[in-house]
Amino acid sequence: MNIDFHCHTTASDGSLSPLDLLHLALERDIDMLSITDHDTLDAYRQLDQTASKIQIIPGIELSSQWKKRGVHIVGLNIGLSSPSILEAVERQSNSRRERAEIIADKLERLGFTDCLAGALSFASGPNQIGRPHFAKHLVAIGAVSNIQQAFKRYLGAGKTGDIKDQWATPQQVISWIRDSGGVAVLAHPTKYKLTRSKLTELLTDFKAAGGEGLEVISGAQVPSVTRDMARLCRDFEFEASCGSDFHAPNQQWAALGRVAPLPDYCTPLWHRWQ
Ligand code: AMP
Ligand code: MN
Ligand code: MN
Ligand code: MN
Repeated sequence: MNIDFHCHTTASDGSLSPLDLLHLALERDIDMLSITDHDTLDAYRQLDQTASKIQIIPGIELSSQWKKRGVHIVGLNIGLSSPSILEAVERQSNSRRERAEIIADKLERLGFTDCLAGALSFASGPNQIGRPHFAKHLVAIGAVSNIQQAFKRYLGAGKTGDIKDQWATPQQVISWIRDSGGVAVLAHPTKYKLTRSKLTELLTDFKAAGGEGLEVISGAQVPSVTRDMARLCRDFEFEASCGSDFHAPNQQWAALGRVAPLPDYCTPLWHRWQ
């Protein structure tokens, strides 16, 4: 089975349209796919009448704030028109728009110009602006030489543009997902750069709030990390998810549908939908 339960389109910060992503997924022989754009379901609206032999699991990646840190929670198999997920999208969209204004303001205080309009020119709408769009603007005005540098200096964890006070709590996010019939999965657990004890604390809180899945594989990661996450997944009795976190075809470390197999000692989440 070729499974990819985490990827992005132009509806959030990806570079392919939903339809182009679906075509690439067909080329890559993906059996089950979830498009998990940041805080929006617009990709699914765009694909509404599109028939495909791929089994699509409706999904979303919701931003949350856990103990002053930004933490991402993927909702899989959500009901696309359930009131609870629609409320989530509306609340998160408002947060994203307000946050974009704050980020723009902070960057302008550093002397960079036209930040909100600039970021918006790379996004599909004011509700969809994320830090990658600000990064593109900083590159475009010559403030930095590439996206990585923009994150390293201005937008990454702990930097001026790392604003996350607007996001809902993990408890709220998990409730939205569960109330819409979905499964809450903690996204890319190694990307938060947590100490072992903080990661354990996060997994404990996530479980207590009703989280049921852990992304054991996120993109191209070394086998020792996969084994470690798989053991945590088993020990916490989560079900295992996996995904590329694909954003663009030129990112080799996150290639759509190129996800390593899960170790056999964790329980795959997709068994629910086979
Ligand atoms: P936001 O949703 O606005 O908080 O932006 C988060 C997104 O920024 C992530 O989903 C990634 O796509 C991107 N991102 C985060 N850190 C980096 C980084 N160091 N370099 C490039 N992109 C990043
Ligand atoms: Mn992203
Ligand atoms: Mn994420
Ligand atoms: Mn993602």
